[in-house]
Amino acid sequence: MKLAKKYFLYLVRWQLSTPILAIVLKILAHMHTLWATIIANLIGGLIFFWIDKIIFKKKSDVPLWEIEENVKCADCKKVGKGYRIVSWGNYDRSEDKHPEFRCKECSIKKMNTISK
Ligand SMILES: [Zn+2]
Repeated sequence: MKLAKKYFLYLVRWQLSTPILAIVLKILAHMHTLWATIIANLIGGLIFFWIDKIIFKKKSDVPLWEIEENVKCADCKKVGKGYRIVSWGNYDRSEDKHPEFRCKECSIKKMNTISK
């Protein structure tokens, strides 16, 4: 995502937090301003953490590799040093609960399928 687009989205997202803050502060008007603001920001943070995560997701032009020792290749089952691409452009396995590692040869083959 281009920086200007990201910046614009970020400014829009700040405006989205305005009604949430306003509503929560109105509901908590009976409370001390400081405590009401802390609670309002906590609610905002719970929501906007996920939105910011999407806005600031970084897409890499070069593959980000993870290397493990003594793993079984997902393709040829050879045990040894294993490689996997964690993220590369739109390909993203950073949250993969069961990451697949491959030997050097198979990981290059896999890389070629991703880059196409
Ligand atoms: Zn292999």
